[in-house]
Amino acid sequence: MGVTIYAGSRVDSVEGKTLTLADGRVTAAKTFICTEGYSGPLLGSRTLIPVNSSMIVTKPLPQEAWQQIGWEGPQCLNDSAHTFIYAQRTSDGRIAMGGRGVPYRFRSGTGGAGATAQSTIDLISHKLGSFFPGIPFEVDHAWSGVLGVTRDWNGGVHWDPASCIGSSTGYAGHGVTAAYVGGRTLAELAFERETERTTLPWVGYRARKWEPEPFRWLGVHAMYRLFGVADHWEERRGSSKTSLLARFGSRLAGLHE
Ligand SMILES: Cc1cc2nc3c(=O)[nH]c(=O)nc-3n(C[C@H](O)[C@H](O)[C@H](O)COP(=O)(O)OP(=O)(O)OC[C@H]3O[C@@H](n4cnc5c(N)ncnc54)[C@H](O)[C@@H]3O)c2cc1C
Repeated sequence: MGVTIYAGSRVDSVEGKTLTLADGRVTAAKTFICTEGYSGPLLGSRTLIPVNSSMIVTKPLPQEAWQQIGWEGPQCLNDSAHTFIYAQRTSDGRIAMGGRGVPYRFRSGTGGAGATAQSTIDLISHKLGSFFPGIPFEVDHAWSGVLGVTRDWNGGVHWDPASCIGSSTGYAGHGVTAAYVGGRTLAELAFERETERTTLPWVGYRARKWEPEPFRWLGVHAMYRLFGVADHWEERRGSSKTSLLARFGSRLAGLHE
């Protein structure tokens, strides 16, 4: 579409129409901040936090393994646990499986270039083995990144016509579809177009702020610990009901505000 993209240009601050980069300045008529889990330095570390997410992918499985599992199509699956795992069959015949691992780093650390802790790889592989006992699989690759999570897990699209600065962030588990709708909505707001998206409830919505550290770190880690214990408890009892522990964890996380 004739747009020039400057990759590898880290923006350190946005003030009015001036963007300060790591090695220079740029003037922009309109600025959209769409840095998702990395938004802390630009939008404030208590606006949304980076929550870690990790994936593994196996080497391609032989046809007999797919038949043995009964996984013939492109179905996606998850285990509906509180600390859930999700998986899909890739077009080149591998299983890609995602889960959490280390959930959150102190002071909203974003964890570098995507290296994944061995303990996280082991955790997700163990889950995969327990889903499909007897199926031989080898982990080929693992990677991690962060999701932007607001205090009540609801994202928001904002446009300020006075400063001409906008943002679309906080998709949490809603992923690329939410990012697409958010980005499109932001562009429509900035160019004063009224569409079915520009009146959606998340336009202008702001969740309350996260707690300061160390309460933030303690809260997020306590929540994941509670979810882990609740999963173990519910599984051991074969319970179909959500345990009180998990309900308390959800409240702590702000999932039911
Ligand atoms: C391991 C993992 C698995 C996932 N699996 C799925 C899935 O199966 N399905 C799904 O729908 N979603 C999934 N997601 C979520 C999905 O990746 C995100 O919701 C989506 O990428 C958000 O898009 P975005 O463009 O808003 O942000 P991002 O894709 O995070 O892009 C933000 C961009 O901003 C850049 N940036 C950050 N800070 C600055 C700065 N200061 N200056 C300049 N540039 C900056 C970053 O380099 C990056 O390119 C997964 C995420 C992870 C981490």
